[in-house]
Parts: sequence; C-alpha cells; structure tokens
Amino acid sequence: MPTGGSDPVREAARLLAERRNAVVLTGAGISVESGIPSFRGSQGMWAKYDPMEYATLHAFMQSPRKVWEMLSEMVSVCGGAAPNAAHASLAALEEMGVVRAVITQNVDGLHQAAGSRRVIEYHGSMEELICVHCWKRYLTRERWTPGAVPLCDCDEILKPNVVLFGEPIPWLAQEVAEEEARTCGVLMVIGTSAQVSPACDIPRLAKDAGAAVVEINPEPTSLTASVTDIHLRGSASGVLRLLLKELSLDDETPSSESSGH
Ligand SMILES: [Zn+2]
Repeated sequence: MPTGGSDPVREAARLLAERRNAVVLTGAGISVESGIPSFRGSQGMWAKYDPMEYATLHAFMQSPRKVWEMLSEMVSVCGGAAPNAAHASLAALEEMGVVRAVITQNVDGLHQAAGSRRVIEYHGSMEELICVHCWKRYLTRERWTPGAVPLCDCDEILKPNVVLFGEPIPWLAQEVAEEEARTCGVLMVIGTSAQVSPACDIPRLAKDAGAAVVEINPEPTSLTASVTDIHLRGSASGVLRLLLKELSLDDETPSSESSGH
C-alpha cells in the first residue's frame, strides 16, 4: 500500500497538477461498475456470441437479422446503464482543467452521460444507427424497440454506428486520438490493456513524445512493464476518487474558504 514519499497516487496527482493537459484512454474496465461486462470476460458478449460469426461487417452485410440478435442485447445493456463514479471523476477532472480529452474504446456513451465534453469515440457509439445503403443516421432510442430489427426509411436494416470487426477506425477519430496522444503531458490509461489494434499504439505514441503514462487497472497488463510509468492498482472508481481528493487538496485556486498554506 502507498506510503510516505513514494505514494504513487500522490506522484500521479503531482504530475497531473503540474502538466494540466492530460489525455485519458479508457476501455471496458471503466464501465464494468456500471454493469456492462467486458466483451472478453466470462460474462462478456463474446462468451455467448462468437464475434467472428456475430460481430464482423461481413456477417452484418450477409445476415443483419442474425447479427441483431447480439446487437439487441448490446443496445439493452448499454441503454440501461448509468455512468459510475469513475466516469463522474473524469468529468470533474475535465471541469478542473486537468484532463483535456477522453479517448474511449467503449461504445456505451457513458462518458458523455457523466458530463465529459471532449470525448473521442474510437469505436463509434451504440447511440446512433446508420444505414449502410443510403447513409442516413438515426438516434437508436428513436428507432429501435426491443425484439424488433430497426429499419431505415429506405427499408434497409440499420447498423449501429459502431466499428465492427473488419471495419476501420473512423479516420477522424483516429487522427484526433493520435494527435492528442502526441501532445499530452500525461496519458492516463484506465480499464484497458490496450491490446486491440490500433488503440494499442496510443500509449506508445504518447510515451515516445515525452508524456508520462499513468495506468489504472486492477491487475498488471502488458503495458505495465513496457510503457507505464506509474501503475495505480485498483478499481477505476476507487483510484480516481483518491486522485481527485489529492488534486483537490493541491488545488491553489482561491475558494470561498481561505486556504491555510
Ligand atoms: Zn437507408
């Protein structure tokens, strides 16, 4: 456990406070506490649906109704979830001017729901549907009902505006994410081992450009021994609460009550 002068939470808070231009990369781990299981875990979607059969662009083009069996479950799970304390802490850090952007691999929209304003959705969002024939877009909640397959006005079956296997990352999201990584002072990696390409390039890009990499994960990952400078071990909400507390103590912004130091 953290002690004395080598407290890693304090060290991370010091870096964040000094540089004030942190970028955050999040993955499934941050949404687990909102009741959204990681795709790859034993409770995850891929334990039930073979992604090669249900989550590729090819599968969707061939048999969209079948793919919607899996998608319906995803929409229900994401639609019923609320942001947790970790999402709220990141929104608070943005408000404080400590965090400037969140790059997320999640498609659940929970960062925005928590109040984060600058969110780069690397894998798209379940909140939007798109027609792969006429390109018209719709809000999922306005077009989808449980048990039914959502149709476009042109009568084709709509696809969630998420990146399926076999689809490239939206180029704008990728460009902006890489630019953020190259120019941030601190990259916080939360709830992801960032193994999926090309999200895996983000920590390395940041590190090579001189950023400190702070990792928040319950267990060590492949990043821990390679690019991570400080590993804060624990749940996303627990660690972020400690960081926020540390940063609030350090915050020199004058408040209604005078500070004693
Ligand atoms: Zn259409």
